[in-house]
Amino acid sequence: MSEPLASYATGRWHTAPDVRTAGVPVADAVTGEEVTRVSSAGLDMGAVLDHAHSVGGPALRALTFHQRAALLKALAGHLREHRREFYALSYRTGATLSDSKFDVDGGIGVLSAYAAIGARELPDDTVLALDEPQPLGRGSTFAGQHLAVSRLGAAVQINAYNFPVWGMLEKLAPALLAGAPSIVKPATVTSYLTALVVREIVGSGILPEGALQLVCGSTGDLLDRLGPQDSVAFTGSAETGRRLRSHPSVVAEAIRFTAEADSLNCSILGPDAIPGTPEFDLYVDQLVTEMTVKAGQKCTAIRRALVPADRVDAVLDAVRGRLEEVVVGNPSSEGVTMGALAGLDQRDDVRAAVDALARAGRIVSADPDKVDPVDADPERGAFMTPVLLHGDPDRAEPHDVEAFGPVSTVLAYDTVADALALAARGRGSLAASVVTADGTVARQVVHGLAPWHGRVLVLDRDCAAESTGHGSPLPGLLHGGPGRAGGGAELGGLDSMHHHLQRSAVQGGPAVLAATRTGELA
Ligand code: NAP
Repeated sequence: MSEPLASYATGRWHTAPDVRTAGVPVADAVTGEEVTRVSSAGLDMGAVLDHAHSVGGPALRALTFHQRAALLKALAGHLREHRREFYALSYRTGATLSDSKFDVDGGIGVLSAYAAIGARELPDDTVLALDEPQPLGRGSTFAGQHLAVSRLGAAVQINAYNFPVWGMLEKLAPALLAGAPSIVKPATVTSYLTALVVREIVGSGILPEGALQLVCGSTGDLLDRLGPQDSVAFTGSAETGRRLRSHPSVVAEAIRFTAEADSLNCSILGPDAIPGTPEFDLYVDQLVTEMTVKAGQKCTAIRRALVPADRVDAVLDAVRGRLEEVVVGNPSSEGVTMGALAGLDQRDDVRAAVDALARAGRIVSADPDKVDPVDADPERGAFMTPVLLHGDPDRAEPHDVEAFGPVSTVLAYDTVADALALAARGRGSLAASVVTADGTVARQVVHGLAPWHGRVLVLDRDCAAESTGHGSPLPGLLHGGPGRAGGGAELGGLDSMHHHLQRSAVQGGPAVLAATRTGELA
């Protein structure tokens, strides 16, 4: 019998009384063995929320931005010391060591980045002046100024399964910096890894009590209880996002709600990038990387490869050749380059999506149903071979069906304008890229993609060595996209911290305005 997973709430670890019988069993993605059982039964969500409001919030808000930034720095240092334990458990989610570094080190990197941003760009104060006072009278005795202060609510953070560490830390860092106590709800299938990290955070004693609570399993009636100072940040499928966004409390209380949902990201091969150019090779490299890192379970991965019609065969051949070199198997075994999906249910979903995509084109890679993983049982582990499709760009499926796995569809375009029209058929995505060395094409493509994409990468031979890649969100840059991608805005430096602050236009005499910022009357 596996050890049940505990939640951390109201200052203690809580195990549901019936978890062994009624908890949701979570399986090892590689072996199929039960890792744990998950249930939040018995957790009093009212008490959880109250603990955030009455204990965590006041403790965080008593600290200045600089003091909170120092907490983030200390936390990053502490978690870095424990990285190996996280990597070890992360294998069970199907991740290879390099996938885990993306998740674990990437998450710790976000903490460090927000520590630096807080120390550098924010005052050693609890109030942030957003502008200079504007005189509002001829005699200079009356003025107005925008201030930002911490909101008084809890930040509920609902995460997807694919990045159990980064997904939590990228939401937690800006919330803590803003003084918002967080209630983290990880996706059940990989929640045990998030819980291990939370155990380390709690055990370190770095954060004030109540600053972080963890709910493993259902959120119960938590959302029903939220009030106007609370917020919800969601990452997951567009369908769940729609459901939560229209939750009665979210609507009635005008609760701040952000969603990072799924996305049919695209990458465009520039007309100048013919076989033999560095740009053609970069395009192929990038597509293979995006298909195989985290077994393609990246919200930013390239789902649609838009390629000039006369180069479709060359791209298909080159990518197929590279995919044949991918070694699928037990991620802890030597030589394995792609691990498993997070679970068998997730693999079923991806297979169903591949079937839908194949009806609008054809599979050009190896048979996706045949997988022979190294050091693992193909029936018990959630393995899949990467799937490359050649799709019909006029059909709806390639622009609508997200296969959240190692799957990408090559679609032909005729002109750059045609490629941009196809990109827009994703109805809003997180990330897009164009690989071109032609400045005129780059400009046209960036202008055409930007309204539909939260981040646009232009890749060429000159920036390739330093490029962070199509699929990597960065703490200083916006992560989020319009429309189908959820309309959210995470990271982006201070932008995401402002989500947890309330802006207020304060009016009064200059001395009073100065005093509200510094706490001292001039
Ligand atoms: P999901 O099924 O929508 O679940 C996302 C989260 O919502 C999970 O924690 C889930 O908990 C929770 N949830 C579901 N129903 C809920 C409810 N009624 N009340 C409260 N919480 C609820 O998505 P997923 O399968 O975990 O993740 C895969 C999807 O996420 C993909 O479509 C991917 O594109 C997207 N994604 C987007 C981003 C981004 O940044 N845009 C990043 C990563 C993933 P349970 O697990 O307990 O059901």
